[in-house]
Amino acid sequence: MKRLVIVGGGIAGLATAYFALEKTKALGEPVHLQLLEEKDRLGGCILTEKVNDFVIEGGPDCFLYEKPWALALCEKLGLGERILNTNENRRVFILSKGKLHELPEGFMLMVPTSFMPFIRSSLISWPGKIRMAMDLFIPRKRSDEEESLADFVRRRLGKEALEKIAEPLVAGIHAGTPETMGLKSTFPRFLQIEEEYGSLIRGMLARRKMVRKWEKQAGPRRTMFLTLKGGLGEWIDRLREKIGEERIGLKRRVTKVRRGERGIYQVQLSDGTALEADVIILATPSFVTARIIEEMDLELSKILLTIPYVSSATVSLAYRRSQIDHPLDAFGFIVPRSEKRRIMASTWTSIKFNHRAPRDAVLLRAFVGGANNEGLVSLDDEEMLRVVREELKDIMGIEGDPILVKIYRWEKSMPQYLVGHLEKVGRIEERVGLQSGIFITGCAYKGIGISDAVHDAEIVAEKAVEYLKGA
Ligand SMILES: Cc1cc2nc3c(=O)[nH]c(=O)nc-3n(C[C@H](O)[C@H](O)[C@H](O)COP(=O)(O)OP(=O)(O)OC[C@H]3O[C@@H](n4cnc5c(N)ncnc54)[C@H](O)[C@@H]3O)c2cc1C
Repeated sequence: MKRLVIVGGGIAGLATAYFALEKTKALGEPVHLQLLEEKDRLGGCILTEKVNDFVIEGGPDCFLYEKPWALALCEKLGLGERILNTNENRRVFILSKGKLHELPEGFMLMVPTSFMPFIRSSLISWPGKIRMAMDLFIPRKRSDEEESLADFVRRRLGKEALEKIAEPLVAGIHAGTPETMGLKSTFPRFLQIEEEYGSLIRGMLARRKMVRKWEKQAGPRRTMFLTLKGGLGEWIDRLREKIGEERIGLKRRVTKVRRGERGIYQVQLSDGTALEADVIILATPSFVTARIIEEMDLELSKILLTIPYVSSATVSLAYRRSQIDHPLDAFGFIVPRSEKRRIMASTWTSIKFNHRAPRDAVLLRAFVGGANNEGLVSLDDEEMLRVVREELKDIMGIEGDPILVKIYRWEKSMPQYLVGHLEKVGRIEERVGLQSGIFITGCAYKGIGISDAVHDAEIVAEKAVEYLKGA
């Protein structure tokens, strides 16, 4: 029987294992599959904890409906009934000059598509609004040279839109800074819209019409952000069941991969043991993949090491509802860098989703660190909690002691897609292609979200199974 080893038990590795097993089963070609994970638990960045009727997400809390692969996998795994929409109150606040202002209704990402709420908004100044509206008249960019996200937003919508809306939104999603992020790899849709409509506003208006039409036709009604009733950990549990415990090795850290005799690979583990494999899929962070592959391809390893990662932390706090005077009438707020705060954003978790806190309590979470404030991630728990509580007191007026606190640190967990990222991924793929039987996947390459990871996992599993057939 052919041997397939998958390294990394995050969503990328688990989804790859699941798809590879499905595909080999369909072909009637059983495979000996082993998934190796260095920690004592599966899930990687996905980590759900249940404490006294609170469902706490340490890492991601949702996936996007618009990118259908995560939803499709959940449904395939029989979790359709467990999918949870967001609640109705979909407002988001942005902190500006110390006060929370609503992101005007109709904004699609950073682009206004509803006239009156935009005009009435207290968030953007009049000159800022006029500058944003100029997007309707600014011609397309002529050269093919990739812009940073910041250059693009400044050119089309102006400086105020960048500082007050685009920058904090992007910091919330990528924990990065738009000045260095490549537009093509992070928001390719904006480029397509500019190309097709000559204006972001015109393009987003057309999209809004399309979305409304498709929402009417769609089957079960879904919201833009989705999760599972018991948290994303349910998904990991189901994947573990489907893959089978016997195929999963926890506390097994891979240090190196070597090509042995007759093209058979040796997978070296930190405990000194080794496994043989015909095919290896590396679903580890790119800097780990670089170390594993170094001896086989130094050049590939060097390119992998040029993908930088940023650290962040999440701090979840629970309160009795009566302790908080704020109406909590939104999903939370984001914080522009210009506000010089020590948190990037706060999600009002139990407002955004049901099933997250008991009836008389609320669950909030704050994001710390990211490209602009990475040093804060190394604060000890007591200090980090003090910082977060000071900020929440200042911004939302919360004074009382939380009834529950959970802190999760995510060291070097968010890959940064800089200008030129897609070309870099092209070179990585070329070099990986030279190593027959080795495949790589994960959030460092073709999309940082969990749905992108699932999408790439399916493609890579297909390629690996094809290879196994011929090996
Ligand atoms: C705080 C936070 C919030 C986020 N929020 C969202 C969100 O709401 N929605 C969304 O779509 N995305 C979100 N993301 C991004 C998303 O979590 C990641 O893109 C995705 O989970 C990455 O999956 P992965 O499998 O590629 O990597 P990881 O989850 O990092 O998994 C890699 C695995 O490899 C293991 N490993 C490492 N080295 C070795 C080794 N040598 N041997 C064996 N195993 C090894 C690790 O222990 C880990 O389990 C968030 C990320 C963070 C950090």
